[in-house]
Amino acid sequence: MVVELISVGTELLLGNIVNTNAQFLAEKCALLGLSMYHQTVVGDNKERLAQCIRTALGRADVLILTGGLGPTEDDLTKEVCAEVMGFPLKEDPHTRERIQEYFNNSVYKKITENNWKQAMVPEGAKVLDNHNGTAPGLILEKDETSAILLPGPPNELYPLFYEQVYPYLQSLCPEKIISRMVKICGCGESMVEEKILDLIDSQTNPTIATYAKTGEVHLRVTAKAPNADAAEKLIKPVVKELKRRFGSNVYSVKEDETLEMAVVRLLKKHELTVTTAESCTGGLLAGRIVNVPGASEVFREGFITYSNKAKRKILDVNKSTLKKYGAVSKETAKEMAAGGAFAADADICIAITGLAGPDGGTEEKPVGLVYMACYLAGNVTVEKYQFKGNRNKVREQSVVRSLDFLRRTVLEYYGKE
Ligand code: ATP
Repeated sequence: MVVELISVGTELLLGNIVNTNAQFLAEKCALLGLSMYHQTVVGDNKERLAQCIRTALGRADVLILTGGLGPTEDDLTKEVCAEVMGFPLKEDPHTRERIQEYFNNSVYKKITENNWKQAMVPEGAKVLDNHNGTAPGLILEKDETSAILLPGPPNELYPLFYEQVYPYLQSLCPEKIISRMVKICGCGESMVEEKILDLIDSQTNPTIATYAKTGEVHLRVTAKAPNADAAEKLIKPVVKELKRRFGSNVYSVKEDETLEMAVVRLLKKHELTVTTAESCTGGLLAGRIVNVPGASEVFREGFITYSNKAKRKILDVNKSTLKKYGAVSKETAKEMAAGGAFAADADICIAITGLAGPDGGTEEKPVGLVYMACYLAGNVTVEKYQFKGNRNKVREQSVVRSLDFLRRTVLEYYGKE
């Protein structure tokens, strides 16, 4: 099944808006196992849009068009698509009623004449009710080919897609496609690939795809089968084997679980509280932890101690330690972690001190050098990293590594999960 995407809007061509709808839809189609060979962006121009639709109809089974369903003159998608596919437009009483209702409940009570244009639908089209706007989505079917028309605003398109388009696309696919994510941290992408080369080389169904993120590698295992149960059965042993090969480097097998969510889950499980003592990351780590709903159960406060004075005043780092070893040193990191845990009366403190650059590096302490320390139950462990990249990259990598360091420290202390 081949799907093709046409994004309509002059704003997209001019770069006024980013085509996030295309990214969203392409990702979802890939998850469904649909092949996508072409995507087009076209302005609000009748001839060029008609040409795009004709071309796409000639090479795809399903067209998805977004944008240009509004009430104004330059919104042409429905009219042009209906014309190219040979469907006359007809008023749909149900949509007319919905538009009336939408305006009754809106602050803009007055309906202008051009709003009724949205109640005109191609004859025989499936109408997809839009609960967040006036333009309904539409599905036009002709000769084994479908065109799915969706409104441009993402807050209208996403719910329409999840509720009505996704099941429709699923119904077109003869096979069920199911995938699972295995999320790994603490291993580089090439190391991960090396460890699973044999699995990748011999793969047919399921397949394994690797995605590298900052400090993490995600493996997506995808299986095709006549039904969901059979697909699950194919996936299960592969996920099990990946977990065996990567051990505690696997932090999650849940699609929506981020590293910080996995860390918070682990801390909750062991009823531990954590605090942060950050220098070069300036609160980024605390921010990531607080991103997790329910983080307040494990995180009460964090410290940003950028200057030496703050490290001394808040974390009680010794003046002599700073003088003798410098702020970026394992000795300072250790004292930051111990001092932070004491100051916050927390079970764990993770401390980060490093050189994010671009200035300030020396031969002995180059830019990208970062020390991290983790305090837990009276013990402090330290790790040293030499990151590459610009200031942002160094800070981002520090945060990911520190979350993983924290996770590993807890796992080692309490035994594996
Ligand atoms: P409306 O009924 O609101 O006019 P529409 O279906 O006619 O919707 P457009 O007029 O093409 O859609 O776009 C409306 C808004 O939707 C744009 O200003 C933009 O904010 C958003 N939008 C449109 N297309 C995209 C896209 N491809 N990616 C992200 N946002 C988009």
